[in-house]
Amino acid sequence: MKKVLITGAAGFIGSHLCDRFIKEGYHVIGMDNLITGNIANIEHLFPLKNFEYYHHDVSKFVHVPGQLDYILHFASPASPIDYLKMPIQTLKVGSLGTHNLLGLAKSKNARILIASTSEVYGDPLVHPQQEDYWGNVNPIGPRGVYDEAKRFQEAITMAYHTFHGLETRIVRIFNTYGPRMRVEDGRVLPAFFSQAIRGEGLTVFGEGNQTRSFCYVDDLVEGIYRLLLSDYHMPVNVGNPSEITIMQFAHEVLALVNNPKAHIIYNPLPVDDPKQRQPDITRAKNILGWAPKVDRAEGLQRTYEYFKTVVTPS
Ligand code: UDP
Repeated sequence: MKKVLITGAAGFIGSHLCDRFIKEGYHVIGMDNLITGNIANIEHLFPLKNFEYYHHDVSKFVHVPGQLDYILHFASPASPIDYLKMPIQTLKVGSLGTHNLLGLAKSKNARILIASTSEVYGDPLVHPQQEDYWGNVNPIGPRGVYDEAKRFQEAITMAYHTFHGLETRIVRIFNTYGPRMRVEDGRVLPAFFSQAIRGEGLTVFGEGNQTRSFCYVDDLVEGIYRLLLSDYHMPVNVGNPSEITIMQFAHEVLALVNNPKAHIIYNPLPVDDPKQRQPDITRAKNILGWAPKVDRAEGLQRTYEYFKTVVTPS
């Protein structure tokens, strides 16, 4: 049985990856320090013989006994308010954490896939974003702790590939949504759903004309699974190219939740908030034969079902 280590296992994406690898018949070791993860996301796996949980901060030396075939590094605070609250941990997990896991991969002769991000493109001057765009990042702005940690992560991963011949994969993840997103993580989807269900104001930042492209989590997991098993070591964008403004998005959530008390309010736009974002997924299509399948109407409906179970209407 192939063994896979998934860091950030109790997080939103990490927990869905655990489910997928269990379903595919792997032995899964889930690792997390729970600073933003939620153990409830993986509790259903605890009774399984082929699942183990290690409570550990990957910024410290990582020890895993025995054979290891694959490592997926998904540990990191990932929402803008989280990395504002935890700037040092964010920098450490992307740099020291990645270094530790690359070292572990090298010692086990394992293949490692690193979770990178559309944030490496910063506030992009090229649209849509292709993998060969170098980005427009403010290194000392509030998002710099995340963006630069992820850029360093890509750099050290490529260095291990070229210098040590390590088998590496880099996925650049664009905005993803679905069940198990943390209600209070500050990102736009959990914010809008919880506000709409509670009958509060949906906090649109700025005028709401900034754009994002939202990918349903099952599609993302499929892309990551294919990338891991491919023989391609250059970065690959995985996301849904369907782009909308934040204002349109607020209206879609309002229409779906249909709570007469919910409405739109305006809050200031955060510093360095990217104005537009849309993945060019030509590479993922050509190399992985991958494209998203779940459209936003379907994905939002499934996500709404989840938020109904974790948010109480006031
Ligand atoms: N946003 C918003 N209201 C919120 C939270 C976010 O209008 O309550 C906006 C935010 O300014 C950004 C977009 O929604 O333009 C996506 O923000 P998120 O924090 O989800 O992730 P990002 O894509 O910025 O990393």
